[in-house]
Amino acid sequence: MNDTLFGKIIRREIPATVVYENDDILGFKDIAPQAPVHVLFVPKGEVIPTLDDATPDQAGLLGRLMLAAAEYARREGLAKDGYRVVMNCRDHGGQTVYHVHLHLLAGAPLGHFGAA
Ligand code: 5GP
Repeated sequence: MNDTLFGKIIRREIPATVVYENDDILGFKDIAPQAPVHVLFVPKGEVIPTLDDATPDQAGLLGRLMLAAAEYARREGLAKDGYRVVMNCRDHGGQTVYHVHLHLLAGAPLGHFGAA
């Protein structure tokens, strides 16, 4: 049983605006968007709490998360201007939901990462 907030969204127990789905990944809009487009991509099956918990046999799944975000961005016409993908890990990374997920941020120029 996948008992995280995102597990409940995957099982449609709590509502979310789903914008992408394939066999093993769900994409839905972030409830508190940090950019004009802010979509979260999560694995539907395996529960990986953080990137640090991922094992080599889960490399394919993590890669498919990236490709799902890229596919969505192309489909929505966001790829030409570009976008950012981010995966937060634990406290210092700012992770709040311990169900590994990829943020896709797009729709406007984003600040240069790490700029003063
Ligand atoms: P994290 O901080 O763990 O990297 O990302 C978790 C994200 O989940 C945050 O950007 C937050 O706004 C989003 N979030 C938290 N609760 C909900 C919710 O109930 N629904 C949706 N769609 N997003 C949520």
